[in-house]
Amino acid sequence: MLRQPVTCREAVGLLAVEGGRLLAGGTDLFPALGDRPPGLLIDLSRCADLKGIARTPTHTRIGGGVSWSEIGAAALPRGFAALQAAAREVGSVQIENRATIAGNLCNASPAADGVPPLLALDAEVELTGAAGVRRMPLAAFIIGNRRTQVRPDEVLSAVLVPHALADAGSAFCKLGSRRYLVISIVMVAATLLRGQDGRIAAARVAIGAASAVARRLERLEERLIGEAAPVPVTEDDLAALSPIDDVRATAAYRIDAAREIVGRALRDAWSAAHA
Ligand SMILES: Cc1cc2nc3c(=O)[nH]c(=O)nc-3n(C[C@H](O)[C@H](O)[C@H](O)COP(=O)(O)OP(=O)(O)OC[C@H]3O[C@@H](n4cnc5c(N)ncnc54)[C@H](O)[C@@H]3O)c2cc1C
Repeated sequence: MLRQPVTCREAVGLLAVEGGRLLAGGTDLFPALGDRPPGLLIDLSRCADLKGIARTPTHTRIGGGVSWSEIGAAALPRGFAALQAAAREVGSVQIENRATIAGNLCNASPAADGVPPLLALDAEVELTGAAGVRRMPLAAFIIGNRRTQVRPDEVLSAVLVPHALADAGSAFCKLGSRRYLVISIVMVAATLLRGQDGRIAAARVAIGAASAVARRLERLEERLIGEAAPVPVTEDDLAALSPIDDVRATAAYRIDAAREIVGRALRDAWSAAHA
């Protein structure tokens, strides 16, 4: 059965009364269902208040129902370059036209391409439920492989990006077994803010598909502060990662690849910070 609310509140009301599963683009949900019947689906695609990207005094607000195509094509400050590059690499154009930012975050795959760029922007998620609206850092929202803090009666209504890093240099680097329509072997987003003195004033480096949850490389970030250019990436910088062997790559290959593409993302972000 399908319900098609036209506002987020209506969707939350349906969830509270009837239960069911939220459906956005369906590009994760339907493949995961396989031949099983979906049960009650609450289709969010008609909720106008989940659409649109807006600038508030403190944040850029990306509606949970915004598609990757819309993010890729939006006029956003240069700090969003990594997010926009990731948006253009989610599957294919057909997938990007359907698939949403909230679906990517709520599905919480370790290989979700949207997560590292948003971690590298200090993004928060806004969750709207029967009890009201709450916010939390994206870093706290995803708690494991396919596990998040979203409650059964909640909709991820928006992603909020503070303005602090909006003018930073930013880059995304994805390694897959081919260029498009590919799940990441490992991917990295880097954000580097250039200070008045020309040195690195703030650094965020986030890496996905190299642990159960995408994570920031805080040790490396600390080493970058005050430098005149990105420092070489060491084994110690990657010590917090816990990649697995799977059909796409071995854990050892993922670490090797991570070291290389973290370096590339940092160089690209630093060059973008000078543009
Ligand atoms: C061929 C193919 C290629 C792909 N390639 C990539 C890729 O390269 N990179 C990548 O990261 N992903 C890829 N994906 C996965 C997928 O397209 C993305 O994760 C996408 O962003 C999911 O969004 P969706 O709107 O389709 O989510 P859906 O499938 O509709 O939903 C996913 C999950 O999130 C929940 N949900 C959806 N919206 C909300 C909301 N607002 N609030 C709370 N819960 C919600 C749903 O209930 C469901 O559990 C690919 C998928 C396919 C089929």
